[in-house]
Amino acid sequence: MRLSDDLQDAIRQTRARVRPHFPWWLRPFLANGVVAITLGRYVYLAANTAEEKIEQSLRHELVHVRQIARLGVLRFYWLYFREYIALRRSGLSSAAAYRRISFEVEMFTTAGIARCTPS
Ligand SMILES: [Zn+2]
Repeated sequence: MRLSDDLQDAIRQTRARVRPHFPWWLRPFLANGVVAITLGRYVYLAANTAEEKIEQSLRHELVHVRQIARLGVLRFYWLYFREYIALRRSGLSSAAAYRRISFEVEMFTTAGIARCTPS
């Protein structure tokens, strides 16, 4: 897994621990097609994730690592799932609800800023 220098820096800054596969105990809880998941400081990638998807997924998950560092693990997951459930109850599909969770919206905004920054 060869990562770009800025991504390696971001991993160091967030003190994230990246693992190249999901832990066995987590697998029964994961929906099909999940590419990566963050638990605390640990970022788990699906085994056999395509090389070009790894960077994108890691950038996404590192935003969650920062959010978790800011809020604490329990508060982050409590707020995250509370929002998801409220959005689902409002009638949104699972995918639409996921995209509207404020922590995911922040991620899309951050990614947008990163893309617009002149290098
Ligand atoms: Zn996310």
